[in-house]
Amino acid sequence: MSKGARSVSILGATGSVGKSTLDLVERERDRFDVVALTAWRDAAGLAEAAKRVGARHAVVADLAAYADLRSALSGSGIEAAAGEAAILDAAGAGADWTMAAIVGTAGLAPTMAALRKGGTVALANKEALVSAGGIMTKVAKDNGATLLPVDSEHNAIFQCFDHANPGAVRRIILTASGGPFRNRSIEEMRVATPAEAVAHPNWSMGAKISVDSATLMNKGLELIEAFHLFPLAHDAFEIVVHPQSVIHSLVEYRDGSVLAQLGAPDMRIPIAYALAWPERMATPCERLDLAKIGSLDFEPPDLDRFPALGLAKEALREGGAKPAILNAANEVAVASFLDGRIGFLDIASIAGETLQCYDAVAPATIEEVLDVDRDARAVAARMVERLKH
Ligand code: NAD
Ligand code: MG
Repeated sequence: MSKGARSVSILGATGSVGKSTLDLVERERDRFDVVALTAWRDAAGLAEAAKRVGARHAVVADLAAYADLRSALSGSGIEAAAGEAAILDAAGAGADWTMAAIVGTAGLAPTMAALRKGGTVALANKEALVSAGGIMTKVAKDNGATLLPVDSEHNAIFQCFDHANPGAVRRIILTASGGPFRNRSIEEMRVATPAEAVAHPNWSMGAKISVDSATLMNKGLELIEAFHLFPLAHDAFEIVVHPQSVIHSLVEYRDGSVLAQLGAPDMRIPIAYALAWPERMATPCERLDLAKIGSLDFEPPDLDRFPALGLAKEALREGGAKPAILNAANEVAVASFLDGRIGFLDIASIAGETLQCYDAVAPATIEEVLDVDRDARAVAARMVERLKH
């Protein structure tokens, strides 16, 4: 280990956020000492990344990928492991800094394991916070862990927020690009294909979040995420559609001042902020040229064409188990849409119906959150069966 290096682990290292994190770590190898990298089942991709950054451990969640990982790492000195328990061990190995970039509630338990160790957790995995927000932030606080938001909007808010004087903040405005279907009619969206839905105009991301951006469920989840990260009432969070994705979000103060963070739409900027925090590090990202951009546009979100946003507002307002139910139903619906089993508009219908017809007492522990998650998935899966074409 190089002297004074920050030890880092990356959960979800083979994904879009994971790769961007690795790219930054590789550019400043002396500054970081990589403890563990994890993935679901891409053994070859994980082994290659682990060798490149000199990780000590590489872990796949899928036991079936273990043999491939072991052979890909043979002779490298990097320890291979597999299974959910091994992912939890890697997450709780005590790195100074952990990137939580597993997609979906699959990332909840590993993220909690990292928080319990009291280090710094850079959170990309918004679904975990949506499902278990109150529990997660409490565990972070009780263990002296620092939760740094990586989602570009929340990272922007974090940078603009007066943490020493939170009472001075009146309103938080999250920007939304509007996604690939911003100008599509309902009829056009009804026949939208997975390939069209994942083709985001500004950001290159994993499949699940790309579909969420097309339904605007992503912005809905982000609303709930913001509520847990910043101490304001739920109605103090607003959304404005800003197609250029240059302003990443805004914080309005009591006196009418509004602070915003701007930058090129490249996740390496918020990731670098979290990676170097409280310092700053250089990135190779494109610099903002406002004169070249010329003008920035804004419009209100259309809740009729994008009902997912209204569902998230409802779940946030009602609280309890509702956000976990919404998130679980959405995960099932998005996976079913990507598999070609349901149509694009069915995603919000399934999420909405699950939210209506299933409820549970407010979960008080992670185990209870996972119970709600499992049951809501079962309800949503039955709806998929009914709709399947
Ligand atoms: P991705 O699909 O590209 O990558 C997901 C990662 O999680 C992969 O490494 C995959 O192997 C791993 N994984 C998936 N299922 C797993 C399981 N069951 N167990 C263990 N590991 C598993 O996703 P992404 O786009 O990188 O997004 C990751 C998270 O970051 C999501 O929660 C997303 O909402 C959030 N996020 C992403 C972006 C972005 O630009 N991609 C921006 C903001 C927030
Ligand atoms: Mg975002």
